Amino acid sequence: MAFHRHAARPRGAFARGFAPGLASILAAATLVLSSSCSGGSAADAADAADAGDGFAARPLLDVYEAVYALASDYPSLARVDTIGFGASASYPDGDPSLPILALRLAGSDDASLPAAQLVGAMHGDEQIGAEVALALARAICASRGDGTVAGSLLGKMSLSFIPVVNPWGYGADERYDCGGVDLNRNFSWAWSYGAAGAKGTSAMSELESRVLADDAEFMRYALSITLHSGSYCISLPWDYLKTSSGAYDGTDGYYYPGATGYPDFSSSVYASEYSPAQALFEAEGSAYANSVNGAAGTSSFSSTQGGDWYIVCGSYADWLYAELGCPCYTVELDGRYDWTSQALSLRAKVLSAHETALLNLLGSTGTGIHGRVLGESGSPASDAKVTATAIATAASSSRALAAPEPVEYTAFAYSNGEGYYFIALPTGSGPWTLVAASSDGELASKGTDADAGPASQVLVLSAR
Ligand SMILES: [Zn+2]
Repeated sequence: MAFHRHAARPRGAFARGFAPGLASILAAATLVLSSSCSGGSAADAADAADAGDGFAARPLLDVYEAVYALASDYPSLARVDTIGFGASASYPDGDPSLPILALRLAGSDDASLPAAQLVGAMHGDEQIGAEVALALARAICASRGDGTVAGSLLGKMSLSFIPVVNPWGYGADERYDCGGVDLNRNFSWAWSYGAAGAKGTSAMSELESRVLADDAEFMRYALSITLHSGSYCISLPWDYLKTSSGAYDGTDGYYYPGATGYPDFSSSVYASEYSPAQALFEAEGSAYANSVNGAAGTSSFSSTQGGDWYIVCGSYADWLYAELGCPCYTVELDGRYDWTSQALSLRAKVLSAHETALLNLLGSTGTGIHGRVLGESGSPASDAKVTATAIATAASSSRALAAPEPVEYTAFAYSNGEGYYFIALPTGSGPWTLVAASSDGELASKGTDADAGPASQVLVLSAR
């Protein structure tokens, strides 16, 4: 995720057998890409021609084509939702030729299933993320019911694949969006503590950030994976905090609990720094790393808290966990950035290193307490915040940073459109008190024991 950028490259010929209905998008997109923000030069064109057919990154229009082709090949298992549009210089409010597409797999309409997303190409020059997202979606559809891990996911959870979140950046081979903003610094959580520059003029200033946020609030994901490249690790919440103590250096948004000047974030999130949910994330991160190292024959793929690697303020992962309670794993697939110049064979290598790890991580979606929130009439209550709290006096957290004791451990989630909620917690971490609160102040509460397994916990709201 370190700073990196290079000149825009014009893409090659786009024309191939496109799916019906794509013609207008593709025609418009060709027009825009050929007159993109930073433009292409004659030298770029020569560079592209020299590289011949060896590009491992598909042109943006080929990605769109591949998304529609998947839905066309598996009409009963996949459909395409346009969740928004990326910005361009000509269309700052959304360019019709730069749709942000989500592949929704079978089960995504069933609100009783936990929802997960896989997001690629937030940084436009990390195109390998789009490839991995597309390949995994296809593998899952092709394996339905065959007894493999991939085949078992459909019907067990709601899966959304968003191969390209930053379509302008992808097309231009740029890290940033059209306005020069790093989308993974633009989200509102701890945004103000980030270094000035590519984080944008205000939190959530970018169209692509808002599209991603709106989709997450609509889908109420219980797990998210964002795919990056440029390094070789999986990073866990949080990005803006370290687990180890250290001095606030006052320059780069470097904060940790208890430091002088620690920002006055909400107490519930402050408490969640010590949540046993972190133990779940660390277990999943370790399992992921072991799987990749085993498949790739390496020992260097690591699992780390984001902030222990380096501090990032305004990341998507922190926003998702802090605001919606959804854990977000950031996977750095490979040390390379420039996928337009990598050998095609490398694509398959990266895919095979991560496939099992990604499928297993997706398969963990919904681990924890889940249930449903109902109104007094018995109808489902959507958008209720369900908070699980426990008072612990022993150091049951695995965090390196000691928690103040006793500490109120907290984890939460919002109910979806049908009232279902999923709070990420490890088994064996109870007992918990659950409290549901609707936006109009109706409350419900009950005690539960996470040790008893993920039994459905129904909460019935009543007016105070
Ligand atoms: Zn990145």
